[in-house]
Amino acid sequence: MSHPLFRRQGILFVISAPSGTGKSTLCENLRSTPDFIYSISCTTRPPRAGEEDGVDYHFLSQEDFLSKVRNGEMLEYAQVHGHHYYGTLKTTVKKALTQGTDVLLDIDVQGAASIRETDDPMVKDSLVDVFIMPPTLEELEKRLRKRGTETEEQVQQRLQTGKKESKMWPLYKYTILSGSMEEDLIKFRAIMRAERYLSRRLELNNVPHD
Ligand code: 5GP
Repeated sequence: MSHPLFRRQGILFVISAPSGTGKSTLCENLRSTPDFIYSISCTTRPPRAGEEDGVDYHFLSQEDFLSKVRNGEMLEYAQVHGHHYYGTLKTTVKKALTQGTDVLLDIDVQGAASIRETDDPMVKDSLVDVFIMPPTLEELEKRLRKRGTETEEQVQQRLQTGKKESKMWPLYKYTILSGSMEEDLIKFRAIMRAERYLSRRLELNNVPHD
């Protein structure tokens, strides 16, 4: 943020939602506004058609991923939907926050829980976590099937995970009741806007102003 009177540290926006809620499309739409950076996660899952390394994810072998974990390079990581690893690189996030740039993380409920429990004061202080709640499980199933990227077995597994994840909403600072893509976007932007005006986040620059 640049303002003649005030400066602030970046905000860490964390967004979680059951698979099929429309979170990826929401994040893509949010990415079109350049007022924050989107943190590109590392994953051991293979790229889907059309996905690019370094754009959608950093696609890593399990060995490389686990070596980053051992070296303390991950802010958080988790095994999502059973087996593949997903994780957020610490340096990218912390560098942006220090520079006053907001960061958006699209991570699962386990990842959000471990960030909430961090003992890093900068990360703790900057965290704003948001849960996107699907309207109903039936609607979630409909949306998952419409997407058509998963096998029947994967649909069932994602629905089971979705059921469990939906119970986690009270742990988040905000819960968005998912409607249309446009509605979700407006709601998320409203949260972003309000959080940016929190007085406690602002620090005066050293300029006279009375
Ligand atoms: P997908 O394989 O469909 O791209 O993502 C599956 C799930 O992994 C999504 O719920 C997404 O939020 C989660 N995910 C993506 N990146 C990360 C990450 O860096 N950490 C954690 N914990 N979860 C992630």
